[in-house]
Amino acid sequence: MTLRSQNSADVAIVGAGIVGASVAYWLKRLNPSVPVTLIERDRSFARASSALSASSIRQQFSHPLNIRMSRFGLAFLREMGIAVEEKGYLYLGAVAPLRALNATQRAQGADVVLLNPEEITARFPWLSVAGVELGSLGLSGEGWFDGPALHARVLKEARLLGARLIGGEAAGFERGAAGRVHAVMLDGGGRIACAHAVNAAGPWARPLAAAAGIGLPVHARRRTVFVLSCPEALANCPLVIDPSGFWFRPEGRFFIAGTTPSPDQDDLPLEPNHAEFDEALWARMAHRVPAFSALRVERAWAGYYEMNLFDANAIIGAHPSAPNLWFANGFSGHGMQQAPAAGRGVAELILRGCFETLDLSAFGFRRLIENRPIAESMIIG
Ligand SMILES: Cc1cc2nc3c(=O)[nH]c(=O)nc-3n(C[C@H](O)[C@H](O)[C@H](O)COP(=O)(O)OP(=O)(O)OC[C@H]3O[C@@H](n4cnc5c(N)ncnc54)[C@H](O)[C@@H]3O)c2cc1C
Repeated sequence: MTLRSQNSADVAIVGAGIVGASVAYWLKRLNPSVPVTLIERDRSFARASSALSASSIRQQFSHPLNIRMSRFGLAFLREMGIAVEEKGYLYLGAVAPLRALNATQRAQGADVVLLNPEEITARFPWLSVAGVELGSLGLSGEGWFDGPALHARVLKEARLLGARLIGGEAAGFERGAAGRVHAVMLDGGGRIACAHAVNAAGPWARPLAAAAGIGLPVHARRRTVFVLSCPEALANCPLVIDPSGFWFRPEGRFFIAGTTPSPDQDDLPLEPNHAEFDEALWARMAHRVPAFSALRVERAWAGYYEMNLFDANAIIGAHPSAPNLWFANGFSGHGMQQAPAAGRGVAELILRGCFETLDLSAFGFRRLIENRPIAESMIIG
């Protein structure tokens, strides 16, 4: 092997979670001859969000581009042969906002229906409709899947197509004229020369961007997921989003559930906050599903949401100060489902110079620079 093939690549991708793996996969699928290197500091992925996710997919967003990205993700899951348990999401809430959202979602082709409280009770007799004016249920194309299996599959496919995965920690970038990146610098002294670099460092994307002098409002926010057993079975249980902000769904013979912590702080240790169940979840869950008064915590895990505190939407594309440093970050809790579309989009930008499949330019840096946040009302904290 020549020195060039070991220490250089056309595209060097930092982070081999689902986003980095997806960028590599699409680069190689669209152009098998482009040399691609993934740089990953922890090949066990023990702390990667892609290994710690709730791995669910929905079409119930308020921004059409988020719906389109997730629909692309759904098609990709099907193409990869990853089964989706299509039990739907059930959002519970007020009439006016859910009606408006339904119109947007249906216009994008989402198979979503509105249910009044009587219809909710008829479908889900185990659910209390106290305080609920309307429900919005995905009838198909929404549910959950094996996230680690998707990640492993995409990474494997990328490598089979010729992408190289190396162990190492990216510490910064070597820059040249007009801010162009010439190499990714590794902790401990190595250097991967490249024509393009990609920041796919997930919840750790902000320090990596800072190493290039770029402010990225992506913060690592710990989320605890509780695995719960309930003596009663809940027939046809979807992923339920309570108006008070918590969520739950079945997971095999158990349930999993989570909520937004308060206060929501940066970089907390990646250990579950067991107190959250008693303090913030149990009473609300038992209020919504009386059978949940007998819930038992089996175990819990914690992962980082990579929260974009500017507007909770993905940031995809290059910053004007570094035209060949590409970002795919800040998915704010929906990066498993959006990684296929984001990966394809970044690959198109690098190889073709523009988006071809889905126009993701609304999610570019420009909105941050011009202080124009994109509203997305259906963020699951
Ligand atoms: C509890 C929880 C529930 C979630 N539920 C859902 C859901 O239901 N549906 C959904 O779509 N999404 C969900 N998400 C979000 C989703 O998991 C993430 O958006 C997605 O996994 C992000 O992928 P990533 O590749 O960007 O990040 P990661 O998977 O974190 O990968 C980043 C990788 O970069 C590596 N890295 C970082 N810095 C460096 C460096 N300097 N050098 C080398 N390597 C580096 C890390 O080691 C890591 O492996 C959830 C997340 C959590 C935490």
